[in-house]
Amino acid sequence: MKVWVKALSLLVSLSASVSAFDDLTLEGQFTQGGLIRGQLPGVSKAWFNDTPLPVSADGRFVFGVGRDAPANHELHLERDGKKVTKSLQFSPRQYDIQRVNGVAQKYVTPPSDVTERIRRDNQKVRIVRTTQSALPYIFTTPIMPAAGRISGVYGSQRIFNGEPRNPHYGLDVAAPTGTPVIAPLSGTVLLADDLYYSGLTLIIDHGFGVSSTFMHLDSFTVQEGAKVVQGDQIGTIGATGRVTGPHLDWRINWQQERLDPALLPGLAITLPKAK
Ligand SMILES: [Zn+2]
Repeated sequence: MKVWVKALSLLVSLSASVSAFDDLTLEGQFTQGGLIRGQLPGVSKAWFNDTPLPVSADGRFVFGVGRDAPANHELHLERDGKKVTKSLQFSPRQYDIQRVNGVAQKYVTPPSDVTERIRRDNQKVRIVRTTQSALPYIFTTPIMPAAGRISGVYGSQRIFNGEPRNPHYGLDVAAPTGTPVIAPLSGTVLLADDLYYSGLTLIIDHGFGVSSTFMHLDSFTVQEGAKVVQGDQIGTIGATGRVTGPHLDWRINWQQERLDPALLPGLAITLPKAK
């Protein structure tokens, strides 16, 4: 038995030295909607599947998968002219069905005169989300942006006034209008605007392609271009846009993927039990 354990540990250390990238660390939850932080000192290039990843001076990078991502992915890393591919598995999740009734009908079936506005809103948000800054804040530990009851979770299939619509990609915190909203991570305000569906909306860049979106606000306390520090007030909870009551909808994007804020590594959060 002892000999067997010794042989096994020799085998493990051998295969590790063959890969030569045994100092790679990956942090996060390997499930749909998860954001993963990686570090490999000295890494020169990194790709998640076919997407090139910006790498910090100390070898950090970040990536994630969306709500309906397949299980199998690949991380490609290059150091000292050597390339290694690591297979990564992300587990599937089951999502709730959320029925939302009492939504103003103009938000379920928008009148034709707002079609152009919705198109412009989407365009603005899409452009803002192409930001790739070197801000290091996604590598710090996030805090919740508001105190209150978790009233909606990531991924739920939503039915508005009986009509199926897109899934929910945010984490909802219900609290009275005027409740402070604070920055969960430091960053730069990319957008502070009034959008049709999401009402008063803030987007904050945390760096390396990761941004937070805060929707349905009652007010902003920061402007576009402002630098915010984690814990700074950025606005107040409201009921603007497609809502049935005051709440914050907090979203996390990595590049064009929508991730689950509740899965951010290090975030202290207790989610309600699924029904
Ligand atoms: Zn929401």
